[in-house]
Amino acid sequence: MESVLLRGGKIWDGSGKPAFVADVFVTGNRIAQVQPPGTRGRQAALSLDIPGHTIIPGLVDGHAHLPFLHKANIADTGDVPPEEHTLRTMQHARVVLEAGFTSCLSGGSAKPRIDVVVRNEINAGHLPGPRMLAAGPELTNTGNLGDERRMHIHRESIAMIVDGVDEMSRTCRLLIREGVDTLKLNISGNQTIPNSRSDQNVMTEDEIRTAAVTAHAHGKRIAAHVRAAASIKLALKHGIDILYHCEYADEECLDLLEAARDRIFVAPAIGLLHNLMYEAEAWGITYDGARATGVVHQFECAQRVFAELRKRGVRVLVGGDYGFPWTPHGTNARDLEHFVRFFGYSDAQALVAATRTGAAAMMLEGQAGEIAEGFLADLVVVAGEPQDDVRLLQTADNIKLVMKDGRIHKNLFDTVH
Ligand SMILES: [Zn+2]
Repeated sequence: MESVLLRGGKIWDGSGKPAFVADVFVTGNRIAQVQPPGTRGRQAALSLDIPGHTIIPGLVDGHAHLPFLHKANIADTGDVPPEEHTLRTMQHARVVLEAGFTSCLSGGSAKPRIDVVVRNEINAGHLPGPRMLAAGPELTNTGNLGDERRMHIHRESIAMIVDGVDEMSRTCRLLIREGVDTLKLNISGNQTIPNSRSDQNVMTEDEIRTAAVTAHAHGKRIAAHVRAAASIKLALKHGIDILYHCEYADEECLDLLEAARDRIFVAPAIGLLHNLMYEAEAWGITYDGARATGVVHQFECAQRVFAELRKRGVRVLVGGDYGFPWTPHGTNARDLEHFVRFFGYSDAQALVAATRTGAAAMMLEGQAGEIAEGFLADLVVVAGEPQDDVRLLQTADNIKLVMKDGRIHKNLFDTVH
């Protein structure tokens, strides 16, 4: 497509100002013009009249796992051979893009090269999918989240198990050699691991420091699963860039997170907790079961912490660990409603988190995440006004057009023009 003109719709540009009516003209992979309606006539290869619709920047999932296979048990994901696993990940990339997510910041790849090769194929134009910051598997310790082995049996999972600084530096370097953009550490335990609990710090300070120094020496990002207060403090001390979960942050953590707010991004992954409580019964997880394993308490803690981080101006990303059976790929936009209902965001603020803030986390600040001249043409045309009601983004039929890098990947408009 050489040029596209979107006429007569509203623009919600991501800058924080109210939506306004304008025409948007795209050439190549850039937004070339945002002009008053009717300025250009129909001088474009494709011209669409879109009154009643709103153009928003492409959505960004800040905690994506495109290789997650909708399996309740992560060891079952580990069992899938790399070839099938890669093909399924390609399908998920398309589903998520068509849901309006033009970028995904990976929170873990499940196998060392899946994110990397899918990212490369998308960037080469061979596959439809979002822009990706590719991760390796989560780096964990023996007995922590992602170690599915037993004394008598070896099982893979979604992680690589590293103990000690030598293994950590070797594994980080290996993943960087293979092409990851970001490393992911499991610093805290998890509610699913009896002897490495969510509120316990498991990874040693030396291991965390080694991983962070190695990532940054190569100009890579580093993210971490941090639930416990002690883990949040260590992550901040050693320069972790993206902190996931953070629900057991104490007052000192909140002050430290605020002090680091121009450097870090934080993501609650609230979609996973929400759906474990309310939508996982088909997989044997009831609300009472979720309460017994601490998920309900975690959710309540997350509400307190993320309402506070919002007030303190910390940059928070949407992205709710989609890819479990109870959080299927393509439903990622549900996170925005959670931000409104549970953290006190306005609809427009939730949309900023999912667009401009997400683009900054993708290292595309000033290049994507806004509808403005010169920006990358990552945009979504939505029926209605999602800046006033983010729930509109949850319905596939409302996502009328998805453009990434100037290329249309979904178009429900009649295109006989
Ligand atoms: Zn995750």
